[in-house]
Amino acid sequence: MSHWSLRGRWYIPATPQRLDPSFKSLVGLLFIQTTVTHSMSNSLPLARDIDGKAIAARVLEEVRTDVAGLASQGVLPALAVLLVGDDPASHVYVRNKLQRAEEVGIRSLEYRLPESTGQAELLQLIAELNTDPAVNGILVQLPLPAHIEEQAVIQAIDPIKDVDGFHRENVGGLVQGAEVLTPCTPSGCMRLLQETCGDLSGLHAVVIGRSNIVGKPMATLLLQAHCSVSVVHSRSVDAAALCRLADIVVAAVGRPQLIDASWLKPGAVVIDVGINRIETETGSRLVGDVDYASARTIAAAITPVPGGVGPMTIAYLLKNTVIATRLQRA
Ligand code: NAD
Repeated sequence: MSHWSLRGRWYIPATPQRLDPSFKSLVGLLFIQTTVTHSMSNSLPLARDIDGKAIAARVLEEVRTDVAGLASQGVLPALAVLLVGDDPASHVYVRNKLQRAEEVGIRSLEYRLPESTGQAELLQLIAELNTDPAVNGILVQLPLPAHIEEQAVIQAIDPIKDVDGFHRENVGGLVQGAEVLTPCTPSGCMRLLQETCGDLSGLHAVVIGRSNIVGKPMATLLLQAHCSVSVVHSRSVDAAALCRLADIVVAAVGRPQLIDASWLKPGAVVIDVGINRIETETGSRLVGDVDYASARTIAAAITPVPGGVGPMTIAYLLKNTVIATRLQRA
């Protein structure tokens, strides 16, 4: 696998953490000039797209191979997906997850429950799936209807079947570096970064957003990969200035096109987790948290939306189903 170097496109050398101080000042001067005039960025080639679809296809191929290996031992991994209510976006997400599962040979069990389903009823179903040895992964599609307490449901899933990696036991294990089920979107982002940059050690990563689902586990995974990590959030003072220090930016904010070129250091690698629908003259379209057209004039590599992080999330859900199956057999 060939790694494209984060440090190679602009003037960031191969080992930034080992720079001599005079070179660091030179980088600083160039950076200041760039951000003030922005003229240098105009002469830069546009950022390379990080092709999430292609990388997710490779991950799915790995999963297919793993599933075939388990099948040869008489094991058929199975994923139960529970959806409560009529949220149209959730129905689309669940359909895609089930379809991909079938494609790689994972048996999928689908539970579409009416909006009126009570919390006790849902917990009862989870309890049954927890004890069913033929079920290896359990995913409850979020958000849940308002009358069901999300945390009660997440904590009811057996941690070893918690393929979303949201259970407290898995969150704690992740922080301590244990082998646990890890949230799918951040795991997918890490794969995109590793395939784009190779070794992340010593790089400065800024994660924008601190949700339990994306921001916090993302920061933890980057730390495990030996990055220096900053987390920027809604109360951060001058988030853009903090972000301009980053070699790697992961945006998980939920604000359409918030991050433009003025937030980025030249040569940064940008992972855009955001999925936001905006109105256009001709209807609507999906955009990320990053202003793609602006950011690609200064970044070295960037994930498009759609076609970047999205496909990785499903691929890592299925990878987690295989990992869960193995953990249950260990
Ligand atoms: P969230 O609403 O739970 O968290 C958003 C975070 O952004 C919060 O921590 C908040 O502090 C921070 N924030 C808000 N405004 C900010 C600002 N102006 N500056 C800096 N930080 C700010 O959202 P989430 O669940 O983490 O999702 C974030 C985005 O990622 C959404 O667009 C969501 O749709 C998308 N998402 C995509 C995938 C995928 O598979 N691609 C998966 C999960 C989430």
